[in-house]
Amino acid sequence: MAYQDIDKRRTWYRQRRQKCKNEGICIQCRKNKSVGDRTKCRPCLDKQSKNGKLRRQRCKQIGQCLVCKQESIYKNHCSQCYLRKKARESGFNMDRAIRKLELQDYRCYYSGLKIDHTNASPDHTIPKSKDGHDSIENLRWVHWNINQMKRSLDEKVFMDLCKKVYRNGLADT
Ligand SMILES: [Zn+2]
Ligand SMILES: [Zn+2]
Repeated sequence: MAYQDIDKRRTWYRQRRQKCKNEGICIQCRKNKSVGDRTKCRPCLDKQSKNGKLRRQRCKQIGQCLVCKQESIYKNHCSQCYLRKKARESGFNMDRAIRKLELQDYRCYYSGLKIDHTNASPDHTIPKSKDGHDSIENLRWVHWNINQMKRSLDEKVFMDLCKKVYRNGLADT
């Protein structure tokens, strides 16, 4: 299929979805009323969750990533999808978060330690508890242990404490 046709088709789908949404009709069967603020009716939602469950079960059995169906290597995900999941769960845009990790060369921002899907942790530079945003500028990928140390500290406070620990350690040796 030509690119223009794919674009046309996408637009058509989008318009149809929007129309259904506006009219409060299920976007799947386009017959029943949608449930609450969902876009589908109860029977379609039930079917979707049943299918999802079966698909997830099957992926687990044969060792496929639940998202992209490549080989699963960590908690039913491939490494990319697991990192994306982590980013999303922390509130960040997944694509941008991964790009940021690449820019960091898969190293912890603070310690420089190599990080991967098993220990990379997305951190809000300005903590959410202090009105930090989920914007990509406020994201730094850090080693899980470092994130445990930093918790909800401001970057500056955290760095000052690290220096104190380091200096104090040197004084003893
Ligand atoms: Zn329906
Ligand atoms: Zn995957």
